[in-house]
Amino acid sequence: MPLAGDGVAIRYHPAPTVTGPLGHWHYDAFIAKLEDPIFGRRRQQRTERPMTPNQSALPALKASEGKWARVFSSHPFDIVLDRAEGIYLFDTAGNRYLDVSGGALATSIGAGDRRVLDAMRRQAERFTYATPAMANEPRADLCERLARLMPGTLNTSYLVSGGSEAVETAVKLARQYHLACGRPNKSRVIGTWDSYHGMTLGALSVAGGPGYRAPFDPQLANAPHIRHCRRATDRPLGVSEDEWGRTCAFELEEMIHYVGPSNVAAFIATPVGAGKDYGLVPPRSYWTSIREICDRYDVLLIADEVVTGFGRTGRWFAMEHFGVEPDIMVTGKGISSVYFPMAAVTVSDKINEPFTKGTYFIHGHTHMGHPVGCATTLAVLDVIEQDKLVANAASVGPYLHRLLRERILPHRPVADVRGLGLLAILELVRDKETMDFPPVEADPEHLFQAIAYKHGLSFYMSLYGPRRPGALKRGVPIFITPALCITEAQVDDLVERLDRVVQEWDQTIGE
Ligand code: PLP
Repeated sequence: MPLAGDGVAIRYHPAPTVTGPLGHWHYDAFIAKLEDPIFGRRRQQRTERPMTPNQSALPALKASEGKWARVFSSHPFDIVLDRAEGIYLFDTAGNRYLDVSGGALATSIGAGDRRVLDAMRRQAERFTYATPAMANEPRADLCERLARLMPGTLNTSYLVSGGSEAVETAVKLARQYHLACGRPNKSRVIGTWDSYHGMTLGALSVAGGPGYRAPFDPQLANAPHIRHCRRATDRPLGVSEDEWGRTCAFELEEMIHYVGPSNVAAFIATPVGAGKDYGLVPPRSYWTSIREICDRYDVLLIADEVVTGFGRTGRWFAMEHFGVEPDIMVTGKGISSVYFPMAAVTVSDKINEPFTKGTYFIHGHTHMGHPVGCATTLAVLDVIEQDKLVANAASVGPYLHRLLRERILPHRPVADVRGLGLLAILELVRDKETMDFPPVEADPEHLFQAIAYKHGLSFYMSLYGPRRPGALKRGVPIFITPALCITEAQVDDLVERLDRVVQEWDQTIGE
């Protein structure tokens, strides 16, 4: 089966008429490009030249007619997913793409694993639903398994359907814990600027991405924000890494002081940077200091491991790299490798205590702890354990980072390569010497995605990059977060193709 970049032309539709509400943005930007001199020229080349490797067409926009126009969501390219197998996606035209970002930084095992599909079917044949009121084995088995896998005293889990829902749950749980302990004023949850914790209003309130927050600002809860640990490049000369970690953590203590310790319920952050500074790895002293500060002021530490949990960084959970146990751990994505919507909020014995003594947690969702989801997740966790995927991430991860530094970092637009294990982030700018950014009008994210498809790579894109004002700008983040089963040979192939994608993106943006 060829990959798209092996010379397979991706079908090309005429420019569509614009209809869908969210489609608008993509289509406008893309249509403008189709008419611009650079893209116009590319279009001509496509009709004039036969397709040979590296000259296959950029994917066109999805035609927005018929059922395609009924989807309130973006699917900007003329690529229709047909099936998935291991780390590969196949479209209906028969092209194969390496799923570089593992969906939305979400797959832990490969797609189509028979062991998981069988477990899903077996559970679906027994029962497909259970209210929280009635005990059922898949849910108890999964909670027990999580207790075994999670560090320290994180022993009790509340199961929901996605990361945002889990963050909401954690925030409410922190509040109710303090109420039960007789601390009624503790309600504020401190978050970090530029973080991502999800899109629901509660999750967005503690998250810090200005672009995502702005339209909803009047609807958000009052959550103070500090900066996450800053980049090593911001560290002043003569300051050790250790000291730098403590200095950055001190911002939390300051904020607790300003808000008033009696008002602060929790601090939520991702173990490694998320959002604008995705993949930034703080020094160990950062997290040990944060833990001390939280303990000093009875502030709960909520670790959002939605991306990093279940092996992504080469340990089961990223907080283990820092030797710090949070009070509440939020996980999702890789927990079920997105075979089924599943997420968990796991609390330490200390946090669980008032709830074992009769405090009723006022919360709930119809789909929580879905039995098919629990059976699926258990099977996924079996695969992670049986196939030793955490160890694989720990050994293939450094190999990936080495190749990225050797082959990709030297390119003009690659300002940074960072991350841990199989969480690798590239940051693309127009020119790293000048650190100027590609113009928003060039739609650099979608251009990258289009070129990548042409070369047989599929990426998840976010809009953190140049759509930022002045000094806060960052490059376009490119997520290299494949399923944890990726082999070194597959990494070789990935980097080979990525090399061509970055060069072509550079040539197009730089023109
Ligand atoms: N937390 C983090 C760190 C995430 O990256 C995400 C999603 O990308 C979420 C929470 C929200 O998860 P979901 O998209 O499943 O609601």
